[in-house]
Amino acid sequence: MIDVDKALEIVTSNRGDFGTELVSLSQSIGRVLKESWHTDRPLPPYDRVTMDGIAIAHQDFSDGKRKFSLEGVAAAGDSQKEKKEPGTCYEVMTGAILPLGCDTVIRYEDLTITEGLALINLSEVIKHKNVHHKGSDRQLEELVVATNTIISPAEIGVGASLGQHKVKVAKLPQAIIISTGNELVDIDQKPLAHQIRKSNVFQISTFLSTLGIDCDTAHLIDNKKEIKSQMQNYLNQYDVILMSGGVSKGKYDFLPEVLEELGAQKLFHKVAQRPGKPFWFGRRESCTIFAFPGNPISSFMCMHYYFAEWLAESLGVPLRKTQYAALTNPIEFNPDLTYFLEVKISYSSTGQLLATPQKGNGSGDLANLAEADAFIKLPRGKNNFDKGEVYPILLYR
Ligand code: AMP
Ligand code: MG
Repeated sequence: MIDVDKALEIVTSNRGDFGTELVSLSQSIGRVLKESWHTDRPLPPYDRVTMDGIAIAHQDFSDGKRKFSLEGVAAAGDSQKEKKEPGTCYEVMTGAILPLGCDTVIRYEDLTITEGLALINLSEVIKHKNVHHKGSDRQLEELVVATNTIISPAEIGVGASLGQHKVKVAKLPQAIIISTGNELVDIDQKPLAHQIRKSNVFQISTFLSTLGIDCDTAHLIDNKKEIKSQMQNYLNQYDVILMSGGVSKGKYDFLPEVLEELGAQKLFHKVAQRPGKPFWFGRRESCTIFAFPGNPISSFMCMHYYFAEWLAESLGVPLRKTQYAALTNPIEFNPDLTYFLEVKISYSSTGQLLATPQKGNGSGDLANLAEADAFIKLPRGKNNFDKGEVYPILLYR
């Protein structure tokens, strides 16, 4: 049995590579950028007027001039105008190119305009006021968004302004979620006394859909021959297989031996953790296999802790910052295991994250998951965790 940190290291060092693809800018939301975006023109591309009002040559104001006759109007979308007469002004609108011969803009709020004359009601005007200078945000061909960025609506806006209508992103893996067990029925069926509903498939497949992955699903009964013939196909077809159940010590837990008989390399089986101790992880050629224990909390925790990190590593996403929270109650835990305890997260009055343990009945207690928001990772080799002690958390909402 290996330690949690070693298990995570093995998982992340077995990264997948799914290549890249071109998608439209809108479709790139949530994906990992595999190119860097540079400006194709300076930002802003011209001296941009930032207020509706008049544009003047500042020298005229410094020379004591306060009344300016209006020479013309420059609107957003007009090509650049030129103020030709000395001592005049140009009416300008937000977004317009600053007319030639002008360097400063005065807002309508600071003017009185009567019969073609604008009177400036200010004793002081700073040169270049209300002008957003060409290239002052970014120069031509300057980096704006770096490769490996996860595309959010902010990058979509930036990408649109740069004309990035086709975007190169990391391809997502072809994935299948497989549940195992004779006791499982579909969720639209009424289970008999000895049956339960197949919940893991839904929690895993919807988690993957939040990551943009469209996955297939399948179910296997606890029959070794059947499992073997089906798994043979799946191993050839998918980049990643996420399974639940059938990896413990039970008489019908065939998965580890079947996977090995089919040539999959076991990278580890059993991790010193609760929940999720029987977790099996391996690969065959380019297919990575996460075989989680069937208990819903175990598979939920393992997909967040291990699968999410594997995917991030495979796609090249920069490491996420670990968050920490302080326990609000003391906890005693005696097994020699890392304990992923379900906690409710809140904030202290000073903004510190607080973790309140949720009393549950262990890895089979699915209802408890809806009460908590995170797992707090309590290290192995310690049995008493005091109120106020700070540990890493794994937020799942
Ligand atoms: P196993 O890992 O196959 O021994 O299963 C452990 C426990 O998890 C058993 O009580 C199973 O009935 C339950 N279980 C296994 N797979 C699922 C699933 N897909 N949805 C809900 N519970 C499951
Ligand atoms: Mg089972």
